[in-house]
Amino acid sequence: MGLTPLEIVKLLPKTNCGECGEPSCLAFAVALLAGKKSPQACPYLEPQKLPAQEEIAPSSELDQAWRILEEVKQKVANLDFESLAPGLGIEYKEGRLLIPYLDGLVELTPEAARRTDGLELDPRDQILLYNYVRFRGHRPLSGEFVGLETFPNSVSKVATLRRYAEEKMARALSENFRPLLAALEAFRTRRFSGEADLAFEVWVLPRMPLRVHFWHGDPEEGLSPEAKVLYDFRATEYLDLESLVFCAERFTERWLELAESL
Ligand code: SF4
Repeated sequence: MGLTPLEIVKLLPKTNCGECGEPSCLAFAVALLAGKKSPQACPYLEPQKLPAQEEIAPSSELDQAWRILEEVKQKVANLDFESLAPGLGIEYKEGRLLIPYLDGLVELTPEAARRTDGLELDPRDQILLYNYVRFRGHRPLSGEFVGLETFPNSVSKVATLRRYAEEKMARALSENFRPLLAALEAFRTRRFSGEADLAFEVWVLPRMPLRVHFWHGDPEEGLSPEAKVLYDFRATEYLDLESLVFCAERFTERWLELAESL
């Protein structure tokens, strides 16, 4: 099996200095695997640490994500960032958009998106962020929360949401409730009571709250733990369905990651 981009990134200094012509070390790793860059393009990569050439196989999924990212970037290239910022609930500063995203802050220009704390943004994160900008927001959120299945043409996405967010959350919360509760503090959240064993809203993006309900279940009664993610009724005015699912998927991954590090 070929190497993954993250395995290559481990061999790099992760400074995102840009000397290789790519905006980040991850971007360089993806370009290297896709055969678009040579190892020599990074002056800090020791070639002897790289495995044999035949192990460096293209990663088609990430390669595709990288291509989609370039297409989305082109779609925002001519947008007036300053005028669209208020509608998205974000700040505009000297040609950049400052976007609160998950547990961090992202500086986004038409060319690049970076977390201000230096944490790597996966190309899929960047696609989500550029999509959010591209949609430009519309009417204010409704404040009414509904399941993904409420939106037209969502059947296949509902299954993805279930598998990559709701089931993962339910499993993790049933095994690791307290650390996950503590890790929630890292996000922009609001807890409320009464509707489930745990209920909260988390703002993945300023106009993209997710409402999460969790029930412990009862093994003696044959009831498994359950989690349900809800979206604002007008969420599709801010993002496409695939991006909505990715918001929940990415929040889940990051939440679990933070809880493990506690
Ligand atoms: S030159 Fe090397 S260290 Fe700098 S961004 Fe590219 S891969 Fe990372």
